[in-house]
Amino acid sequence: MRFLLLLLLISYLPVAQSLPRQSLVPGGIAVIQLDPGDENGYRFRNKPVLVTQIDGKPIALVGLPLSLKSGEHFIEKRDSGQVRRKFFEVSHKEYSTQHIEIKDKRKVNPYASDMDRILAEKKRKQKARVHYSRASVNVDFLLPLEGTRTGSFGRRRVFNGQARRPHSGMDIAAAAGVPVLAPSAGKVIELGDFFFSGNLVYLDHGQGLISMFAHLSEISVELGQQVSKGQVIGKVGATGRVTGPHLHWSIGLNGAWIDPALFFGAEN
Ligand SMILES: [Zn+2]
Repeated sequence: MRFLLLLLLISYLPVAQSLPRQSLVPGGIAVIQLDPGDENGYRFRNKPVLVTQIDGKPIALVGLPLSLKSGEHFIEKRDSGQVRRKFFEVSHKEYSTQHIEIKDKRKVNPYASDMDRILAEKKRKQKARVHYSRASVNVDFLLPLEGTRTGSFGRRRVFNGQARRPHSGMDIAAAAGVPVLAPSAGKVIELGDFFFSGNLVYLDHGQGLISMFAHLSEISVELGQQVSKGQVIGKVGATGRVTGPHLHWSIGLNGAWIDPALFFGAEN
């Protein structure tokens, strides 16, 4: 009888939306409990903070940029002259260095004639990264495809012996042509054939949560299109600065690139 009761209880529990893991390091996420009624208006470094509800309790998810210094940080809100802060402690993380050989040398040392294009694309990418909409957000992500995940987020990168910016996402190795699925519902806010990223798509998942998919062989969506979770947005390819076919997936939160692996169970 007791067993039956337990079974009944379990079946009546609501299915919880799973949250990303907290990781209080540069490139990580701070998960902060808020009081009901106090969820609106918090900002981190002057950017609005994402707030989701778990079992009726508001939870703030804060993206911590790779450039963030270790030490005490806070989200804050200003309410009729009053400043309220929630503090958290960020630890140092040493990311390793990765050396990569790129056959197409122009993708490492572009020609002078490439620079106008590269700068124009950089501006579009920056704009997409900090895009913000009030749309409701589902942070329970699915993997865009089954493949070999590499835990290379945050690694310092040296291309053909030259230092470049750290790796801003997760690489998933897969054959060219494998469909790439939207990890959560979103709106297509940027796309195109970019010099370094190849064919790329940016999705706005709402409240400053952004996905970027790069090196696609094919783009299956249009600018401004609303996509549902699991919908095909493109195909794996080897366009842009790559050593072979794979999906590059970046997740931005309040303008910061964070480790996509935090949205999935196991450490890597
Ligand atoms: Zn990558």
